[in-house]
Amino acid sequence: MLIKDDAPVWVDTTRCKACDICVSYCPAGVLGMRIELGAVLGKMIEVVHPEACIGCRDCELHCPDFAIYVADKGFKFAKLTAESKERAAAVKANHYEKLGA
Ligand code: SF4
Ligand code: SF4
Repeated sequence: MLIKDDAPVWVDTTRCKACDICVSYCPAGVLGMRIELGAVLGKMIEVVHPEACIGCRDCELHCPDFAIYVADKGFKFAKLTAESKERAAAVKANHYEKLGA
């Protein structure tokens, strides 16, 4: 498994099948799909707002392809804010695509 000491959540894009599941679970609007021609289904997972990650691990636990990883409990994760929740709802309403793309 990849390890990144300085990030709360990161992805292995070689494994991602663009299923949107992690985005659908993320309560903080951290994740979103970006358009990527040539990738599976023409899109790819992106950690758009790492600073908002609360470390809940829902993304990691539900990814069927083991393509997304969350830092250990010692990492200083963010708190869930109203802004994060609103962004999560907006991303879901945007068909799981990252906002402003
Ligand atoms: S750990 Fe939770 S908050 Fe962080 S990206 Fe995954 S689902 Fe979102
Ligand atoms: S759940 Fe896994 S395979 Fe599906 S979009 Fe997220 S990282 Fe990619």
